[in-house]
Amino acid sequence: MDGGRRGRGRRQAIEKELKKLREEREELDGRIRLLESQLEVRPEGVDGAAAGEGVVYGSCDGSVACRRRRGNGFAPDGGLPADMIYRYSRHLLLPDFGVEGQRKLSQSSILVVGAGGLGSPVALYLAACGVGCLGIVDGDDVELNNLHRQIIHKEAYVGQPKVKSAADACREINSSIKVVDHHHTLKPRNALEIVRKYDIVVDATDNLPTRYMISDCCVLLNKPLVSGAALGLEGQLTVYHHNGSPCYRCLFPSPPPVAACQRCSDSGVLGVVPGVIGCLQALEAIKVATAVGEPLCGRMLLFDALSARIRIVKLRGSLPDCTICGENSVFTEQDFQKFDYENFTQSPMSDKTAPSVNLLPENARITSRDYKRLVDNGEPHLLLDVRPMHHFQIASISPSMNIPLSMLEEKLPTLKTSLKETGAASASGKEPALVVLCRRGNDSQRAVQLLRENGFASAKDIIGGLQAWGQDVDPDFPVY
Ligand SMILES: [Zn+2]
Repeated sequence: MDGGRRGRGRRQAIEKELKKLREEREELDGRIRLLESQLEVRPEGVDGAAAGEGVVYGSCDGSVACRRRRGNGFAPDGGLPADMIYRYSRHLLLPDFGVEGQRKLSQSSILVVGAGGLGSPVALYLAACGVGCLGIVDGDDVELNNLHRQIIHKEAYVGQPKVKSAADACREINSSIKVVDHHHTLKPRNALEIVRKYDIVVDATDNLPTRYMISDCCVLLNKPLVSGAALGLEGQLTVYHHNGSPCYRCLFPSPPPVAACQRCSDSGVLGVVPGVIGCLQALEAIKVATAVGEPLCGRMLLFDALSARIRIVKLRGSLPDCTICGENSVFTEQDFQKFDYENFTQSPMSDKTAPSVNLLPENARITSRDYKRLVDNGEPHLLLDVRPMHHFQIASISPSMNIPLSMLEEKLPTLKTSLKETGAASASGKEPALVVLCRRGNDSQRAVQLLRENGFASAKDIIGGLQAWGQDVDPDFPVY
């Protein structure tokens, strides 16, 4: 009996000692990880390597193997070290989320495409909440007119790559996760390679061809896609290709006409609106990553900022004969890489290259420099600005007359009178020229067409509009 008791006592003592040592080891591991992650926050030589290939901070290449190797804060036995418990304690306290949710999050890798108005809150929240590996892809630089809505960027980063700015911001929030920046515009030729490394994709871009491209890519690689959009005072959100939900092509097999596609740079956007949608995208990505809750699959959330209304509409299911995700689809990775999305949608992948129309013969157009000469020579003329009134109020060339294109037809008599008055006021008695101007030189062509059809035979427009005027004639003219 005594021998047995002594044996048990010894065993208990050893177990106690083991427990204590394991705890010490966990704590040490936690401290090592924290110190390692601090070392990796700003590795030397990053700036030199920032151009071109996506810079990998630390040693994470975004792959599944890499994430398992690192464990992202979890000890091999699945326990959380003390510093991680403290950091994510409010998550751990949620009965539906808890340690299991946090573990799944820490093992997940999420790619955010676009570090703009939507991508800002997505990346900030995903970094803060402890996603294991966060990838950000964007080829643009930070501009001053981004800052009212792209809250991840700071004034100090204007002119620098958005991915660098966004990655730095994410790392400042959470040095224990891996942030990978891909300084590229996502294109068919690089999309497969980048997207393949991640579990979940968040589409935070703002143009139609990219939307089709990301959806097709996610179907090919079998990745869930959290898709958001924001324009003006409205936004929308859904999760494609997950739990049986349709892909983008199932809903829109053929792209809408170009005229129906508006862009932020044309229509404007209230800064908070992409913020709201981006936050919801981050939430959906977290739900997909952790399998907590019901992701927005087969449903679309519509947000109307002015009326403060959120509606959820049911989407039709995936199309059995969808050319991309349908059972008999023959669309391959090779097809994808060769697919011309800009041609398919008749719109550009970049927000910067505005689609331009070419409606007028050469002799119905003048350059902004020609117009400047006409003004300098004192030639009698009337400058007609056909932009919407709220654009005209932002900035205009003086003197000019504002008749928005949408009202031009009904205002033709007024225009005739004004032109006559201009002629009468000129010393030469020469018939005044009618010169038409808009923001970029598209609406002005439409206006000249209409004017010429209605007896204003000599009307001409300024090629490239106010944008060209600012670039070629008056660098102080405000850009918007
Ligand atoms: Zn489909």
